[in-house]
Amino acid sequence: MAISVAIIGSGPAGFYAADAITKSVDDPVIDIIERLPTPYGLIRGGVAPDHQTTKKVAKKFEKTALQAGIRYFGNVEVGRDVTLDELHEIYDAVILAVGAPADRVLSIPGADKAGVHGSAAFVGWYNGHPDFVELEPDLNIETAVVIGNGNVALDIGRVLVRSKAGRAKTDLPPYARDAMDASPIKDVYLLGRRGPLEAKFTNVELREMLDLSECAPVVDAADLPDSVPDDMEDRAKRLAEKNLETLKAFAERDPNAMPKRAHFGFYAKPVEILGDDRVAGIRIERTRVEDGQAVGTGETYDIPCQLVVAAIGYRAEPIPGLPYDERQGIIPNDKGKIADGLYAVGWIKRGPSGVISSSRPDGVEVAEHIAADFPSGGSKPGRDRLAALLDERDVRVVHFEDWKALDEEEEARAEQPQPRHKFTAIDDMIEHLEGRE
Ligand code: NAP
Repeated sequence: MAISVAIIGSGPAGFYAADAITKSVDDPVIDIIERLPTPYGLIRGGVAPDHQTTKKVAKKFEKTALQAGIRYFGNVEVGRDVTLDELHEIYDAVILAVGAPADRVLSIPGADKAGVHGSAAFVGWYNGHPDFVELEPDLNIETAVVIGNGNVALDIGRVLVRSKAGRAKTDLPPYARDAMDASPIKDVYLLGRRGPLEAKFTNVELREMLDLSECAPVVDAADLPDSVPDDMEDRAKRLAEKNLETLKAFAERDPNAMPKRAHFGFYAKPVEILGDDRVAGIRIERTRVEDGQAVGTGETYDIPCQLVVAAIGYRAEPIPGLPYDERQGIIPNDKGKIADGLYAVGWIKRGPSGVISSSRPDGVEVAEHIAADFPSGGSKPGRDRLAALLDERDVRVVHFEDWKALDEEEEARAEQPQPRHKFTAIDDMIEHLEGRE
C-alpha cells in the first residue's frame, strides 16, 4: 500500500518536503494541509513586498502541488477542523512544517505601550496576512525605531522609507501602501545590541540600502572598526568584511542628501520604552562586545520616536501534547524525527534562521527517514479518510484549483505596476470562490 503523508503547513519547508518525498518513496500519497486558504507561508506573508523576485520560487512549489499524488487542503486548521491525533491515526507519516510564527518577546519596561509591535505582526500587517490586517499601526509619525540587526529589521526599515513610486511596484495591500504613502516619516533607526561585525544582515540586503531613491543610509564612522579580526570563523569573517565595506560606504554618504534617513546604530541595547500610554521614545544603553556578548556600559541615551518594531527573531508555538524547547523555540527532534510517524521540517525543526532554500535539506532528511521507516509501504487510509472527516464536519476545503482562482483574481484586479492585489480576509476569499460555483 502507498505511504500516506500529511504535511501540516504549506510554506517552503512543507513544499520542499513534499517534493523530496516524491523522489525517495514510490508513489506516495501526500496531502498538504494549510490553515489559510492561500499557500506558500512566508513567501506570501513574510518575504518583503518589494522582494518580488524572491517570491518567484512559488512557481516551483506550484509545480510540486500539481504533481500526481499531491493534494492541497487549504482552509483546514489542525486543532480546529481535525486534530493532530486524528492525523496520526489516518496517515502513516505526519510532518510538521508550521514554522516559527510567534515573536520572540521584547522584555523591557514599556514594551506593552501602544505603538510597539513585534515584527511578526508588523510584517504580517503589511503583507496582508489575515491574522494581522487589524493591527493598523499608526504611521502618522516622523521617527521609527526597529530593534534588531537581522534581515527582518532591514526589510521593515526599507519598506518604511521607500518612495511612493517604489511601493507602487510591490504587492503591499492598498491599506498598508496608503498608510505608508501618507506617512510623514523621515527617520528610521535600526539598532543592534552588538557591533557591525556581529550584525546578521546578509550583504545583498544591506547594500540595497544604497539604492533607495529617497533615503540615505547613515552610520557613525566611529562605530566601524578599520578591519575584521583574523580570528573570526571563515564564513562569519567573509560576511563581516563585506558588511563592513558596505557600512563604510554608508558613512561616506551625505545624511542630508535625501529627504529620509536610515540610521544604523550599533552597541545599542534597548532598556526601556518611554512615554505614557503611547511610545514617545526609547532609552538605549551603550554596550561593548566582550567574548561575543553585548555588555552594558551604564551609559544611556534616548531616541524620541513614535513607533517601535522589535525584529528580534521568532519562535515556534508549542503544540499541545508535544514537548517544547523554550530556549530554542522549537519542537525537540532528532534530525527531523520527533516520534514514530511524526517529523518536523523548517523553522519548527531548527529555529528561525537561513534563507528560503535553507529548508530544502530538511525535506530531503525527512524523506530519507520516511523511506527508512516504512520499508514495506504504508498501512493507513490517508486522504480518503481525511476528506470524509472534513466533509462530515462541513469544512470548506480550499483545493489547489480554488487557490489558482484566487491567484488569478489577485493578478487580474491589480493596477499596474502592482504585481497583485491580495485578498486579506478569509471570508472574502471564500465569497469569491462561492461566487464562481
Ligand atoms: P535574526 O537574523 O536572528 O536577527 C535577529 C536580531 O535581533 C539580531 O540582530 C539579534 O541580536 C537581535 N536581538 C535578539 N534578541 C534581542 C534583544 N532582546 N534585544 C535586542 N536585540 C535582540 O532574525 P530575523 O531578522 O528575524 O530573521 C530570521 C531569518 O530570516 C534570518 O535567518 C534571516 O536572514 C532570514 N531572512 C532573510 C531574508 C532575505 O534573505 N532577504 C529576509 C528576511 C529574513 P544578536 O545577534 O545580538 O542576538
